[in-house]
Amino acid sequence: MRIAVVGTGYVGLVTGTCFAEVGIDVTCIDIDVKKIENLKKGILPIYEPGLEEMVMRNTQKERLTFSNDLASSIQGCEAAFIAVGTPPGEDGSADLKYVLAVATSIGENMNNYMVVVTKSTVPVGTAEKVRKAIEQALAARGVDIPFDVASNPEFLKEGAAIDDFLKPDRIVVGVASEKAEGVMKKLYKPFLMNGHPLIFMDIPSAEMTKYAANAMLATKISFMNDIANLCEIMGADVNMVRKGIGSDVRIGNKFIYPGIGYGGSCFPKDVKALIRTASENGYSMRVLQSVEEVNENQKSVLYNKIHSHFNGDLSGKTFALWGLSFKPKTDDMREAPSLVIIQKLLEQGAKVRAYDPVAMKEAKHILGDTIEYGKDEYEALIDADALLLITEWPEFRSPNFNVVNKLMKNKVIFDGRNIYEGADMREKGFKYYGIGVKHQV
Ligand code: NAD
Repeated sequence: MRIAVVGTGYVGLVTGTCFAEVGIDVTCIDIDVKKIENLKKGILPIYEPGLEEMVMRNTQKERLTFSNDLASSIQGCEAAFIAVGTPPGEDGSADLKYVLAVATSIGENMNNYMVVVTKSTVPVGTAEKVRKAIEQALAARGVDIPFDVASNPEFLKEGAAIDDFLKPDRIVVGVASEKAEGVMKKLYKPFLMNGHPLIFMDIPSAEMTKYAANAMLATKISFMNDIANLCEIMGADVNMVRKGIGSDVRIGNKFIYPGIGYGGSCFPKDVKALIRTASENGYSMRVLQSVEEVNENQKSVLYNKIHSHFNGDLSGKTFALWGLSFKPKTDDMREAPSLVIIQKLLEQGAKVRAYDPVAMKEAKHILGDTIEYGKDEYEALIDADALLLITEWPEFRSPNFNVVNKLMKNKVIFDGRNIYEGADMREKGFKYYGIGVKHQV
């Protein structure tokens, strides 16, 4: 079987590599010339655990190739996946220009039946636009080549993307023909061992499923952040409350951790896009509007604690920041809460020295030399006035606190992810602030 994956970012590269891993011939296509040049040399554009070895293995076996040339790469393919970005437009709606540009190129160049599968996160109705774009391009060529469109939203989590793709909780596919269903079944068969379900549905439902999933997850986070903030006001401890509610199977203990707000390339843009889709169609997503509002507020919660601890005088102080990426095990800095906190600190004349196990290269692109970078977590602490725990990387969970204590000028920890215990930190000689926990300081 031969397929093409158009767009070689987080989703496209993982998708293409995992299909190659099960024996399918895959060409990953991108318009970015440098990215493809690098991939051909074995240099990956992103960090994702396990991905590099898998790319190497499959390129060596020649099942995985990279190209800038869509026209030649889609010839003979049974399916072409569209996995390009869908960034938010100015009004919050998903910008479909990249998706539709790819659809047009496919129509301009295809010469055999194929299923054109949208993997990018796109609003309901996009598959129809993709179909029209391809039909127009075919009509302009004066040819009539049969094709189908399908929607196959991606649920992988950055940081665990390979596992999520190889052992998915479920695979959702929206189709409108039996032929397309047959192709998609054949493609995904190798991933269905151990009972991972492949769920077929109509195309609009598949498109909606992705937004509903992300909106639900974002809602859980904002809900817990709201509860955490109220816990703090009322003298309750959200860590206890979380355990108390999480043991109810109807609620579950996953994804109910408070923190400093969700970020990343998906939740913020997908929540905005769903609100926008609703309002364009005369409906108001009231819950999601609040989810967004709570999230914006939450990004300032840690900063507000810092500001009040230092009585508003942050000028000239040095803040050690552990973690820059929006979550652990990724170098993705898109909409990372760290950026909001850093900006606020810099505006107050503070100095920031950060360390992140993999996101520093990406952070340097964005922040340049406006902040300093530690070569490890300990170097970031030298003479610091406070430690800010921003991303809960596993290696930050049990540092050598004797060393931490010695290196810091002022022993105070602002824990944006509640990975430490307040009582334990106080015993070790630190002042401690968490999110929604009892006995701050
Ligand atoms: P990304 O920005 O990492 O990658 C997109 C790639 O598409 C880039 O390499 C870009 O150069 C390429 N591209 C743009 N226009 C092109 C064209 N005309 N032809 C070929 N290549 C082109 O984006 P991503 O994070 O992989 O996200 C892609 C889509 O998947 C988005 O819709 C996103 O919402 C969705 N998604 C992302 C994740 C995630 O965790 N990142 C998870 C699920 C779904």
